[in-house]
Amino acid sequence: MTSAPATFPRKATRQIHVGKVAVGGDAPISVQSMTITKTADVEGTLQQIYALAAAGCDIVRCTCNEIEAAEGLAQIVPRSPVPIIADIHHQYKMALAALEAGVHGLRLNPGNIRKPEHIKAVASEARDRKVPIRIGVNGGSLDPSLYEKYGGLTADAMVESAQMEMRYFDEVGFDLIKISVKASNVPLMVEAYRKLSAVTDHPLHLGVTEAGPLPGGLVKATAGIAALLLEGIGDTIRYSLTADPVEEARAGRQLLESLGLRERKNVDLIACPSCGRAEIDVIEVANRAQAAFADKKLPLQIAVMGCVVNGPGEAREADLGIAAGNKRGHLFVKGRNVAVVPESEMVEALVDWASFIHEHGVEAALQRVDTTIAEREAARDRNALLDEKGTDANQSAEKIVEIRRTVEG
Ligand code: SF4
Repeated sequence: MTSAPATFPRKATRQIHVGKVAVGGDAPISVQSMTITKTADVEGTLQQIYALAAAGCDIVRCTCNEIEAAEGLAQIVPRSPVPIIADIHHQYKMALAALEAGVHGLRLNPGNIRKPEHIKAVASEARDRKVPIRIGVNGGSLDPSLYEKYGGLTADAMVESAQMEMRYFDEVGFDLIKISVKASNVPLMVEAYRKLSAVTDHPLHLGVTEAGPLPGGLVKATAGIAALLLEGIGDTIRYSLTADPVEEARAGRQLLESLGLRERKNVDLIACPSCGRAEIDVIEVANRAQAAFADKKLPLQIAVMGCVVNGPGEAREADLGIAAGNKRGHLFVKGRNVAVVPESEMVEALVDWASFIHEHGVEAALQRVDTTIAEREAARDRNALLDEKGTDANQSAEKIVEIRRTVEG
């Protein structure tokens, strides 16, 4: 019901499958996240996986750092609603154990599993089981020899790390690969992915590593991931936030929806920034609306606007919205006023109308009521506010006179 998604040309990559989820080629860009429970805690981990899937996560990664974790994976994988990837560091045997547990994918860090025979043993086993591996280069744990060769962490060093790993995979005829070159420095990460994308057609997994807590982490991760997606680079994404992983999944999903790269499944809540004309506490009402729609799968754009003077017009593209005026909430559908409710019931009314539109469509919503009544009421409140505050809500003209008097007098 929202406007058609924008399209960006995407770099052509090969397609692999992580369980039932296709990655690369023309597959939709997928969202990943990682559990923060002990993987040996099967019930706790599954609970988190279900929460992540409900928040829009397509693939979930779990650490496999000990034998108990691998045993946990054997129980988690068959009960998970989404494909499971085992995250492996240092111990190649944990990769073999995870494959035995039936995982849908592995992530190997070439910076800390460096023995060629170990890498090739894992790749051979993955090849036989047709399980993909992500070569997960991380700026913070780069192979020390590359660090030395390049005189520090550089984009070229990260790309070379990935290429070295690919050569080992190639030697055993394994090519179900996706690659990441994450760094916590956004310009460095962007440069590394650009360079990597120029030399490979394997699908790329994007992320800014250790982006940190909200809101800074969100900004950094979005800056790096979005910059690349807009260039057509990237097939799957992960926000690495120091937050509940559900926030990572939500952020990933919202980014893709806002770029028009995934079909909208969730409410796109827009709200005015408020100003001197606002008739309500816009921040408070918008937060309440956000909470009310958080778990509702409604692909609608919904607006919360501070005043009926400008709100319905400024948000006329929204499927549904509400604007405040004279202690009342004026509901509008595609810019047309449809109902008037008490200010205290604004959010409830939005939820009711959103469900109606989702079920019956915009046209039916416009025919649901006699819109002339709502339009007349909105016009009345709009005019009353204009009479009261004028077109200059901030009384700029009076303030200017006052400022001059202060300065000149
Ligand atoms: S004019 Fe009205 S809709 Fe626009 S920012 Fe101010 S309160 Fe919000």
